[in-house]
Amino acid sequence: MGSGYGECERRGGLRPASRRARRGPGALYWAIGAAALALAVLVWSVRAADEEESGVSGVAAHSTSAPDPTASGADADEAPVRPSGEHALLANPLYETGRLAPLPCPAPELTASDPASMERFLSTVADCLDEAWQTQFDRAGIPFDPPNRVFWSEPGSSPCRDYPSTAGAFYCRASKSIYIGTSDVVDKWNGAEDSVVYASLLAHEYAHHVQGESGLLDYYHDQRRREPDVPAQNAWTRRSELQANCLAGAFLGAVAVSYPVTESDRRTVREDAAATADREDSTDAERTHGSAANSVLWIEHGMERQDPGACNTWGADAELVQ
Ligand SMILES: [Zn+2]
Repeated sequence: MGSGYGECERRGGLRPASRRARRGPGALYWAIGAAALALAVLVWSVRAADEEESGVSGVAAHSTSAPDPTASGADADEAPVRPSGEHALLANPLYETGRLAPLPCPAPELTASDPASMERFLSTVADCLDEAWQTQFDRAGIPFDPPNRVFWSEPGSSPCRDYPSTAGAFYCRASKSIYIGTSDVVDKWNGAEDSVVYASLLAHEYAHHVQGESGLLDYYHDQRRREPDVPAQNAWTRRSELQANCLAGAFLGAVAVSYPVTESDRRTVREDAAATADREDSTDAERTHGSAANSVLWIEHGMERQDPGACNTWGADAELVQ
């Protein structure tokens, strides 16, 4: 949200118990329970979207031939093309690339209170993200450059906003950069020590870069701009944010064995997804990241399926992107 070039102002998750309690008793557990119940609906819905997608792709020139997962890129006589228009959103070739390869990505020990340790950690995970997404884009035959990384410890500026800001982390399409404050992010996440929280955050911001490189951000921003009011614009924003959750989950699922992401980490990821969602009492003008139930649902779905094709929030039923 914001400037149109900036994606995702993540203000902090895993709120302290006292603050979280004010959201209503058991809200988090309700959210996780509701997410589990909604999963069946989602699986159905995504399947429906897949069917719709194959119908659309028959019309679009770019995907008349399905990408061969073993191919290293586009045919020699066909320069890689970034998808555009509604096709980029609903029938992106990235959705046809299958599961992310189970990548060896052992995470370094993280001392969250040490900015140098945080920078090392984020750099290592970003290397894994570069490799994982480069492979998917090669399969899709879409050109891909990894994002720039700005892991700040001093104030600075980006084309989207100055930092530090209300966001401890953000993606800026104008500079194709991920910005994360190595100590700000720990403050905003209330000193969380479980590294998977920061891996999840990085993977989410990276997912906005994936959306940009796959051509769908341009079309999405364009459509959002045409809406007459903020609540209608937010309906677009939520689909984008929930897709980023799902793509982040796909990465976490793909590195789960080597990282390792344990059952307890998965619980932490779900709690974080609920805590970074829209608050129950927020107005339509404030609802940009989806309900706690949907936020958990999409990251969980991504972790299970590990497939960008499972993350087509643009074709999902409205109640799954509220
Ligand atoms: Zn975001």
